[in-house]
Amino acid sequence: MYKNNIVDRGQLYFSLCQVAKQFESGLVILDAQQQHNIIFANNIFASMVEYSNDELIGSTLSLLTGPLTDSNSEALILESLQLGLSLKLSIFHYRKDQTAFWNELSILPIRDHESIVQFYIVAARDITDSINVEALITVEREAYSELEQGANITDVFEHLCRHIATTLQKKSYTCIFLINQNRLKLTASNALSEKMQKIFHMMDNLNVDYGSFLQAIRKERYIVHDLAQHSKEWAKILQQNGIEAIWHQAIKTPEGELVGIFSLFFEESIKLPRPSEIKFLDRVAPIITLALKYFNQKQEILQLAYYDEKTGLPNFALFQNELTQFYQEDYRGVICIIEPGEYQRVVDLYGRQGGDALLLQLAQRAMFIPAFENALIARYTNSSVILASKHTIDEELEGLLHEIIVEPFTIEGKSVYITLKIGTSNYGQFISSTEAVKRADTALSVSLKSAGTTMKVYDESQVQTLQLEMEVLSSFSYALKNMEFTPVLQPKVNIQTGQIEGFEALARWFSESLGFVSPAIFIPVAENTGNIHKVDRVILRKILAWQKTRQDTGKQMYQIAVNISPNHFYDPHFVENMKQLINEYGVEPRYIKFEITESVELENMIRAKGIINELKAFGIAMSIDDFGVGYSSLGYLKELPFDEIKIDKSFIDHLTDGRMNAVVRTLIQLSADLNMKSVAEGIETEEQHLELQKIGCQVGQGYYYYKPMTLSEVEQLLDYETLPPY
Ligand code: C2E
Ligand code: CA
Ligand code: CA
Repeated sequence: MYKNNIVDRGQLYFSLCQVAKQFESGLVILDAQQQHNIIFANNIFASMVEYSNDELIGSTLSLLTGPLTDSNSEALILESLQLGLSLKLSIFHYRKDQTAFWNELSILPIRDHESIVQFYIVAARDITDSINVEALITVEREAYSELEQGANITDVFEHLCRHIATTLQKKSYTCIFLINQNRLKLTASNALSEKMQKIFHMMDNLNVDYGSFLQAIRKERYIVHDLAQHSKEWAKILQQNGIEAIWHQAIKTPEGELVGIFSLFFEESIKLPRPSEIKFLDRVAPIITLALKYFNQKQEILQLAYYDEKTGLPNFALFQNELTQFYQEDYRGVICIIEPGEYQRVVDLYGRQGGDALLLQLAQRAMFIPAFENALIARYTNSSVILASKHTIDEELEGLLHEIIVEPFTIEGKSVYITLKIGTSNYGQFISSTEAVKRADTALSVSLKSAGTTMKVYDESQVQTLQLEMEVLSSFSYALKNMEFTPVLQPKVNIQTGQIEGFEALARWFSESLGFVSPAIFIPVAENTGNIHKVDRVILRKILAWQKTRQDTGKQMYQIAVNISPNHFYDPHFVENMKQLINEYGVEPRYIKFEITESVELENMIRAKGIINELKAFGIAMSIDDFGVGYSSLGYLKELPFDEIKIDKSFIDHLTDGRMNAVVRTLIQLSADLNMKSVAEGIETEEQHLELQKIGCQVGQGYYYYKPMTLSEVEQLLDYETLPPY
């Protein structure tokens, strides 16, 4: 029996060896009766593990284990050998030189005719390559999905570095550097120690000749397996910091352009990479290139979708997304929509780019205000930016926003001072983000109607006003056709004598559908919709008709001032139309005066001067209205040949304030010097009257003397009063 067995075992072994020699992969035979010792190894196996046959024979498979071999896999092998089971697994094994590889083992027990396991045949295959490829496919897939989800490139690359380090199973600092302006910029690494940070910092200060370095690496890779043999300064720095070897691999675009390198820094000197490792490095580089390309493309798409093309500022879509984020994080703050009052004018003068430049500078200045450090700022419309602060800002807000315009803006090399129209609303908690923006917009609409820099905070009544404006607009053409606009007259009184010197005509509208509509509502609507010249003409016609009957019936004639909007004033046909109209009624032009609101447009001095001179030559008197509001410039007064200056009510209201009083005195003095009549508007009290009398103002207008009156009321008044001729 035993003898039989021997023969049997010998024969078995012999035939196994025959097979093993023919076998095309590595193969060893273990003796199941002798501690699973290796009793045979074919040449392929020997060269795979780089041990000689002598070294292999008599040892066991554990000869191949090393520090990173998985102990579970080892236990499985032992178990299968003890129980006589077949097994297939992949295990991390080490060659004689302690380099590692993935070993795919198939263990097969060989039994004799009595079913006793005599041997094990172990087929072994180095599958590092395919494991690496698999790992890379995973890495690649993960990289794309991370990018897809909006991860930034650094995070993706860091993940990649960790993965590479794990796959290569080498203790190394794995880093990706991208080329930025001919320098290498560390973009990601697997786990940077402080020490490495320090090294890179030192290298960066070295002024390494990156040009020649990059030239060298252009040839795929650059490997120094023993830095001690290198004399370059960078090599010394690395070495002094314990780095013994480096592998650099070029990262190139498919077109061959070098975009970066990826590097492994080893703390011990290390063999040249094996072919499988080189293959791996070769495969990693394109993944980096493609991820980078994909990221850049995504960035471009994002840029298009979320940034304003002209200024590079975030657009409203991005603003909305981020505001939603603010809501999720439970922030409460303020939304401001900011529009330069002179936007259109800047566009007229400097083109669209001028407007874009203005908005960009405006946004940048807002960003620099510390209170808006974490605020969202985006382009809202062509002419406005929108801002959402992260925190509530109360009283200080207006002052903060004022900082934006303290300094002039630079547009095409020219300094431009601007005013701001600002609408604000709170957001958070009970107000949806859409509603908050809508409210700020409503407040802006109100702000746009005021002169100078103004901030309006949203309140309910603004909505009603805006609604009314919409209604006003829709009833407008009907009103014009049916002559619903009529003038009332307010006397202009000689402050010194109390005599009526003339009148101002003010438009009134009794709408069939809306009832009485205040000029404060319909004048701006008419201005903004290009209808104001129609109102001005209707009023002028009615005044001329009235003047004509007075003239024909031999009554005392007074000069009547009509208001002319700046838009109308600059209409190319304005002068011609007015002359024609006055001639049509046959009223002497000296009984008509035009009041032009002081506005930024009067800065267009040369044109204004021409128009004024033409009208004066015809005989019409000219008055500058609302002087001192907004764009005050005493320069106007000297340049433009007005007959009269109307000092705005806001000054008269503050005559008790020393500074205001001084301003009014100066204005009165200056107008006297320039041969202009000074008119104080909105006088309501005796005190004001006496003060103006004292400081030498010539003419006054206000409820203190007379309220605006209908034409028939004026007729009656003038019939009773016997006044000396004007
Ligand atoms: P404005 O030209 O400054 O007219 C003076 C305004 O002050 C008038 O308001 C007048 O009724 C008011 N007022 C006069 N005295 C007093 C006073 O003692 N106290 C107060 N609180 N107010 C006083 P109104 O009639 O509401 O007109 C408002 C503005 O609408 C005018 O301001 C003028 O800019 C514009 N406007 C009126 N009619 C016309 C028109 O036919 N054409 C144009 N383009 N604008 C017009
Ligand atoms: Ca006026
Ligand atoms: Ca006025």
